Amino acid sequence: MDKKIKVALAGNPNSGKTSIFNMLTGAHQHVGNYPGVTVEKKEGTFKYAGFEITLVDLPGTYSLSAYSIEELVARNFVIEEHPDVVVDIIDASNIERNLYLATQLIEMNAPLVLAFNMSDMAEQKGLKFDIGQLSQLMEAEIVSTVGNKGKGKTELLDVIIRTSGQDRRQRIHKVHYGEEIEHELGEIGILLADKEQQLVEKYGSRWLAVKLLEHDSDITVKVHSREVLEAVTAGIEHLKSIFADEPEIVMADRRYGFISGACQETVKTTVESRHSYSDRIDAIVTNRILGLPIFLLLMYLVFLSTFKIGKYPMGWLEQFFGWAGITIAGFWPVGSESWLKSLLVDGVIGGVGGVIVFLPNILLLFLAIALLEDSGYMARAAFIMDRVMHKIGLHGKSFIPMLIGFGCSVPAIMATRILENKRNRLTTMMAIPLMSCGARLTIYMLIIPAFFPEKWHGPMLWLIYLIGIILSIVVIKVLRLTVFKGETTPFVMELPPYRMPTGKSVCIHMWHRGWMYLRKAGTIILAVSIILWAAMSYPKPSEQSLADLNPEQAQQKKLEHSVIGRIGQAIEPALKPLGFDWKIGTALIGATAAKEVFVSQLAIVFAVSSQEAGADGEKSTQNLREKLQANYTPLTGFCIMLFCLISAPCVATIAMTRQETNSWGWALFQFFGLTALAYVVTLIVYQIGNSISG
Ligand code: GDP
Ligand code: MG
Repeated sequence: MDKKIKVALAGNPNSGKTSIFNMLTGAHQHVGNYPGVTVEKKEGTFKYAGFEITLVDLPGTYSLSAYSIEELVARNFVIEEHPDVVVDIIDASNIERNLYLATQLIEMNAPLVLAFNMSDMAEQKGLKFDIGQLSQLMEAEIVSTVGNKGKGKTELLDVIIRTSGQDRRQRIHKVHYGEEIEHELGEIGILLADKEQQLVEKYGSRWLAVKLLEHDSDITVKVHSREVLEAVTAGIEHLKSIFADEPEIVMADRRYGFISGACQETVKTTVESRHSYSDRIDAIVTNRILGLPIFLLLMYLVFLSTFKIGKYPMGWLEQFFGWAGITIAGFWPVGSESWLKSLLVDGVIGGVGGVIVFLPNILLLFLAIALLEDSGYMARAAFIMDRVMHKIGLHGKSFIPMLIGFGCSVPAIMATRILENKRNRLTTMMAIPLMSCGARLTIYMLIIPAFFPEKWHGPMLWLIYLIGIILSIVVIKVLRLTVFKGETTPFVMELPPYRMPTGKSVCIHMWHRGWMYLRKAGTIILAVSIILWAAMSYPKPSEQSLADLNPEQAQQKKLEHSVIGRIGQAIEPALKPLGFDWKIGTALIGATAAKEVFVSQLAIVFAVSSQEAGADGEKSTQNLREKLQANYTPLTGFCIMLFCLISAPCVATIAMTRQETNSWGWALFQFFGLTALAYVVTLIVYQIGNSISG
């Protein structure tokens, strides 16, 4: 008794479906209509290797939307008749357009085989496919065929039989529609699972949500829950306002991005055949030789403008906090030693104000990142990095969470969820804190102008970011060779077409970041500033012990007597070889709460220790920079940045790593590993720098 299997042939018109159908079935075919419609249905049954195969020729379509009766017929056949295998006939000489249908079949979780038909034409055009890799990316076996010559027949049949025996598995590679759309898909999916269980069982919640957002008429009428329909309408409106385009169009772009990414690496052409606008830009931007320099240059421009433009609003904020300090200090008589005055002026305004003045820089950096992201360039950056990442044992996709890490390690660590491979995920997570986050930018913004001439500001900032990137590469390589040994799986790097970023979307991203920064300043940093201020002001030495000292010595004595002074002095021997004194040490301790605290802490230390503590309230950032310059060398300044870049990430990051790995072990490994690395690197740099300059 032969095992029966049902196979559907899908494909674009003129891809050679009928030729393949004839090649496989020979004369055993009969023609009818699909039920209820006048679309021709050709069916044929034949035997091969102990199987009885029924082959159905689906109508030729470019897509599986609900716009034409042919598309609906093809789609419903795949959903309702449950074919054991769907063979998508691809015109290999026109692969990118033909794969669009494949992305939709993938999305339907169809058991898929790709026949690269017209392979003779493709060869004539000078196209070369890395079939193995492409097949891994599309998660479907690929067979080359020449339909009108009968080539590839047995190979295709063998693959069909192999595929029919496999379970339908969840696919790893899905088209990722971008943050906003994915968010809507998630919400609608959850609602659907609750309100439309029958539909979800039949179609799957993600596919349903995709079709609803695409305004698919056939699916929309099947949904009865008002709540779902309202959520869909609201979702479409929301997305329209962000993209200034129908979600449907943006989603189609994303599918092409998926294809384009998969093809970029696997399809080579020996003949120049690139035409479209996006392709022409990509030819330059993702060029093997030019790609990396262009990326580095763009990042350089971003940092340069962060400084150049940010300077002005930052000045205004400094003036404001200076004025606020003076005004508040003015409530007390000159020279009075009130603890409340010191708390407000040194602790709160000095600490939190010292952090908030950098808000314009933060906003500018995120404006630039949002522009690069929304225009589609960031996907290219990940693509360019893919080659480097492969060399160190990761995939370019890991670069996306790492890019997010430039904003904040916390969401970046969460974003590693896009990596399906556990080893890749852990490796990426461990290296993410080496991407200079927005909080570290605050430190650089304080230190760089304090020690380096103006024309070096942009280059220095760029350099420190670059050091982070390079170190992360080294760390990843080492981890992949030791702790996280193993194979990597290929992944599709999506290359969405370039589009004009919309003002709204860019503003949302930028504001979101800015708000997170302000909220942190108002909560964690405020609390830590107050605690550190107290730890620095108490316990106070007895009055007699200060009696014989001049005011400056008295201040010094008070600080040394305080909790912070004692801790700082205790750890000073360990920090000395790095060029740090105990004042920097206390700021480094504070920085584990949140990196910005380093700045507020230094501001407080120098305010408290200065003679005129709380007297004039003039604690501007410039003032602090002058004090730093008077107390330390540029080498120390550089080492501070280096140590802050590499050392233990803030508590929020550690907490997120713990949550995402579900293990204190990995969180602590990250914490102590990075701190140890920071110590070693800073030690080497300081000692070498010192011996050269000294
Ligand atoms: P359908 O519209 O998808 O059913 O495509 P057909 O099977 O009708 O083929 C369209 C045209 O392409 C016909 O002229 C076929 O002879 C030709 N054709 C089919 N397969 C191949 C192939 O692999 N190579 C070449 N060069 N031509 C093919
Ligand atoms: Mg045909």
